Amino acid sequence: MLTPTLTINPEAGGPDKWHAMQLAAVALQLGTDSDHGLTPAEAAQRLVRHGANKIREQRRRTVLDMLISQFKNFMIVALLAAALVSGLIGEAADTLVIISIVLLNATVGLIQDYRAEHAMASLGQLARLQATVIRAGECQTIPASSIVPGDVVLLDTGSTVPADLRLVEASGLKVAEAVLTGESVPVEKGTDSLDGASLELADRTNMAFKGTVVTYGRARGIAVATGMATELGKIAGMLEVAPAVQTPLQKRLAAFGRRLATVVLVICAIIFATGVLRDEPVLLMLLTSLSLAVAAIPEALPAVVTVMLAVGARNMARKNALVRRLPAVETLGSVSWICTDKTGTLTLNEMRTTELYVYGVRFPIASVDTKRPAVRCLLEALALCNNVSRAAGGEVAGDPTEVALWRVAAEAGLDKGVLEVTGPRSLELPFDSDRKRMTTIHRTGSGFIAYTKGAPETVIERCSASLSDHGVVAMDHERVLAAAEAMANSGLRVLAVASRKWDSLPAAHNIEGIERGLTLLGLAGMRDPPRPDVRQAVEACRSAGITPVMITGDHPVTACAIARELGILAPDDTVLTGRELSRLTDVALVEQVAHTRVFARVDPAQKIRIVDAIRAHGQFVAMTGDGVNDAPALAGADIGIAMGKKGTDVARDAASIVLLDDNFATIVGAVEEGRRIFDNIRKFIRYALTCNSAEIWTIFLAPFLGLPIPLLPIHILWINLVTDGLPGLALAAEPAEKGVMLRPPQPPGESVFARGMWQHIVWGGLAMAGVTLLTQAYAIHVASTHWQTMTFTVLTLSQMGHVLAIRSEQASFFAWGARSNMPLAGAVLLTFALQLMTIYVPVLNTVFRTTRLNMAELAICLLLSSVVFALVEVEKHLIRRGFLYR
Ligand code: ATP
Repeated sequence: MLTPTLTINPEAGGPDKWHAMQLAAVALQLGTDSDHGLTPAEAAQRLVRHGANKIREQRRRTVLDMLISQFKNFMIVALLAAALVSGLIGEAADTLVIISIVLLNATVGLIQDYRAEHAMASLGQLARLQATVIRAGECQTIPASSIVPGDVVLLDTGSTVPADLRLVEASGLKVAEAVLTGESVPVEKGTDSLDGASLELADRTNMAFKGTVVTYGRARGIAVATGMATELGKIAGMLEVAPAVQTPLQKRLAAFGRRLATVVLVICAIIFATGVLRDEPVLLMLLTSLSLAVAAIPEALPAVVTVMLAVGARNMARKNALVRRLPAVETLGSVSWICTDKTGTLTLNEMRTTELYVYGVRFPIASVDTKRPAVRCLLEALALCNNVSRAAGGEVAGDPTEVALWRVAAEAGLDKGVLEVTGPRSLELPFDSDRKRMTTIHRTGSGFIAYTKGAPETVIERCSASLSDHGVVAMDHERVLAAAEAMANSGLRVLAVASRKWDSLPAAHNIEGIERGLTLLGLAGMRDPPRPDVRQAVEACRSAGITPVMITGDHPVTACAIARELGILAPDDTVLTGRELSRLTDVALVEQVAHTRVFARVDPAQKIRIVDAIRAHGQFVAMTGDGVNDAPALAGADIGIAMGKKGTDVARDAASIVLLDDNFATIVGAVEEGRRIFDNIRKFIRYALTCNSAEIWTIFLAPFLGLPIPLLPIHILWINLVTDGLPGLALAAEPAEKGVMLRPPQPPGESVFARGMWQHIVWGGLAMAGVTLLTQAYAIHVASTHWQTMTFTVLTLSQMGHVLAIRSEQASFFAWGARSNMPLAGAVLLTFALQLMTIYVPVLNTVFRTTRLNMAELAICLLLSSVVFALVEVEKHLIRRGFLYR
């Protein structure tokens, strides 16, 4: 077990006893103030003293580990052994070259592994946890890793507790502590100090522990331990190490690679045997077949796919889509339905209160008479039943709905701080999206007053009277509901506000009782403009065969007004409310979802039913969410997408992708990027396997055509090195195909070899081998001493021609031009230059056993090398015409 790094000192008193101490003693011992927190300077000093608030990570693979793993390949070891034997017998120079090339190959493999590892690690960095603390009396959002003992930390529903905290304030707080205690039922928390110094963790109900999750309520606490000194840190050594997750595609490719390796080994054995039977030198045949095996077994496939996925994920992060689970990158291209939230995702979440409704009359905000007693009461309620807080720099921070409501009160001259001095808050029943309302209770001179605000239909039905300027009067429910509906119809988000007087403070658990018998104070209507780029993104979805659907907690009328404006809801589409949905059977829902484009007043629990119903149509569903209760739907969707700004840690944990800007258009951008990455992975596989099979066919078929072994082992290894390494990786930089968002989604689970891929590998490999063997036969016939150099050159350069041609699955190379992928152009030119060096640099002639070609021979090589390029262009032409692989 790991020992805590936090030593006992003034600010870290008796560890493990915090729950038994009085709050004042805790604050004293930690040298902090539970209202104002630490000063930034003190926090910085403590950070140096205690170190970052992080659980020590598992050891990463070092470069040496990665280097060693390059040689954990039986074929490579066998090849090196055979090379050594041949060196001992005589061909020392050859042995050196073979070993150098194998080492270079290992270096390329190492670089690929390192890039993959590095890209994955930097993705992890991006997903860092944030926390809210109070420092010098102001709220600040900081990386959770900078929390120090003594910091005052705020917790909200859905947040992950960032350090071990002694709670100072807790309203309705419930925490799921399964990571620590294994108990999945959330524990209720309070602030009273507890008896019994040696209580079990599960019983320390005035503490919140690092890594546990707030499932309900809000709280404030003092950090008593951070990093490895926390309870989580103490057991970190015992936690299971999560194995490196392979994406489905990587798994399939690894399995495919293993099968392919067997086939290649059998072929190499046949090549070896036939060679020996034809009286070729045994050692040469051994080296040839082993080199071929090393070259043709695509062991780099999974690593290259990782690099492509991870680099793609980094690109997505730059465009505000943070990938938490790599498989999402490869499956994004299959998304056929996107179920999205409204507030903040389709709209800007920049709420402004534009109308108030007080005792039967609607007022635009500009013409509200704030001196009227009833208006005054409504405004006071808006300021008090509100959780906005002052952030650094005097800004107000909080939920945009609340900020908008706070602002009307503030603009009418009501100061929330002052109101809270005369009417301090005694109790809060926090907002949750199932109840769709919240209540705060304040002390008054004569007793208490409760303010409730929330969705009109849930608040209005709980009201028994209404407030006028002359006091409490009877209420016309129908009339108020109609007013709320009319406000919603003009696209406004409407909240109803009510109050109730109490002589004594009611018990907090009696939520139903507290939120009953209310007096309606009025309605507030807020406008939340749609995001400017969403309309276009919705159109892009349609042309890409993706159906966008709105699922919102908001009122159906408000929801429809916005959905219509954004093009999500057409005249024939239907709208379904949560209440209607709850009456449908699963079978009926499956039928209903086919033409429903707006789901309104939906509880988070219903989202999972919607996802399942859509998936029952065989659709591949991306679903957004932000709250704690959205987590099951996020986990149940094919791709769960959480909101980075307004989302909770719980939702982020359950999601595969986090939108850093909460924007719907970002999802569509990510789908496009996913399609591009998947295309590029397919291009790499197409390229690598076609080339590898060409190498095999060439060596395998030569004897049957009465030709000598076309290439020496060093040639085979060289081709593998220069062609597989750079050009292959450069394919990751290939821009998206034109029209990538004009084709339907790729069917989920479709083989990577579908849509003409395997056919291409078969004919492409045979064609490349055919051209190479033709070169060999022709060259032996006319230029006997140079034949092998020509054969070697044609095979290398054919692969370059091939990679240029397969850059697009359909478009002609000439339509794209070489400059649209400069890394690839550079890789091809470099390979070309290296190949010329093997022919024209004298020492390399000795090393590679090549001969200088004259201009005519070189020209013939170039001409023959472009045959495969031309054939692939013909193939693409036929695809464009619709003759092939439909
Ligand atoms: P979406 O699901 O698209 O994000 P939403 O924000 O309207 O929409 P919820 O946050 O679940 O969904 O809110 C549901 C309803 O609860 C709102 O329509 C509103 O009537 C009410 N509501 C929202 N925020 C508050 C709040 N802070 N206090 C009281 N009631 C609220």
